Amino acid sequence: MSGLLLTGISHLVTNAGPVISDAVVAVEDGRVIYAGSDDDAPGLEGRIHIDCAGKAVIPGFVDAHTHLVFAGDRSAEFARRLGGATYADIAAEGGGILSTVEATRSATEEELFDLTAARVRRMLAAGTTTIEIKSGYGLEPEAELKLLRVARRVGRELPVTVKTTFLGAHSVPTEFKERRDAYIRLLIEEMLPAAAPLSDYCDVFVEDGVFDVDEAREIFTAASRLGLGARVHAEQLSRSGGAMLAAELSASSADHLDNATEEDAAALEESGVAAVLVPGASYTLRSSQAPGPMLWRSGCTVALATDCNPGTSYFESMAPIISLAVVQMGLTPEQAIWAATRGGAVSLGYDEKGLITPGVPADMVVLDAPSPTHIPYRPGTNLVDKVISAGRLVIGHIDV
Ligand SMILES: [Zn+2]
Repeated sequence: MSGLLLTGISHLVTNAGPVISDAVVAVEDGRVIYAGSDDDAPGLEGRIHIDCAGKAVIPGFVDAHTHLVFAGDRSAEFARRLGGATYADIAAEGGGILSTVEATRSATEEELFDLTAARVRRMLAAGTTTIEIKSGYGLEPEAELKLLRVARRVGRELPVTVKTTFLGAHSVPTEFKERRDAYIRLLIEEMLPAAAPLSDYCDVFVEDGVFDVDEAREIFTAASRLGLGARVHAEQLSRSGGAMLAAELSASSADHLDNATEEDAAALEESGVAAVLVPGASYTLRSSQAPGPMLWRSGCTVALATDCNPGTSYFESMAPIISLAVVQMGLTPEQAIWAATRGGAVSLGYDEKGLITPGVPADMVVLDAPSPTHIPYRPGTNLVDKVISAGRLVIGHIDV
């Protein structure tokens, strides 16, 4: 037998039309060949049968913003913050991103791969089949390349699709604190050209005290000459102009956007920049959520992502992110599921991901629940029953 046949699906989200009940999906050679109602299904015998009675099926999650390659942990800092220390206090003491940089520089490439692969296996088990992975904890030429090689290797060796982003402009490393211009020169002249063959995108943390708009523009312009798209850490802790810069550059995405205004939203929509929202970070920092409903109403492509990182959003699973997006941010369950699947895919330039339609790679999640609204409705319960990545069952088993 070849291929898979999912039958009796109670609620099929294709992201290409209305929800289909009592649906069937057939998979052949890694791709969907049929997705529709049982009544219209052509002869599809001869496949491995998966009974989905009482279960919903949705596209695999697309996590469009992660910082997965790191060593060390910052649980002590987490506890300090809960005691009242701010992100800025901790950064000023040499904690925050720079403490992860130290641990990550010290780790070998093999150690980093093992740590990252373990995270990716947990993400897969939670239904994520496509992941954007940023560098940014090396902040020196060879260390940044080490992170990007690890990210690319994860995409080759594990059943997930990976896109990589060079984030050498995550922070100015300690040794350049007194001469930030020299670090920006190093970034543009040495690090970017070396990183470009391992990267799909370039990202800059545009924020008061990190990189300003003019510095970011220079870095993105150099990256664009090397063929890299732009993703921008924008308006997270303050309104610093990152969203307007993303619009000016027609970036692929502007991410975070906690402090974005209607003016920012209109500019993003006009330039076709996706708004990648990361409610796990606002939750962990106990700050207000990004204006998701306003961005949605403005016509922006809204995506949801974990922002998985050891400091401010140590979420590996998209399910709690969807719950936060619904309960705290105010998206509807349908909007949040779309943003966590198709929205992320659009932000990463995929025509064929985040969909369940004939011809696309079969990345799907079978939920042990009759509709995906159960994801935000029942936070804390893992509702993932099976994960299919590129047509292969990678999580769960088939009852025979
Ligand atoms: Zn981030």
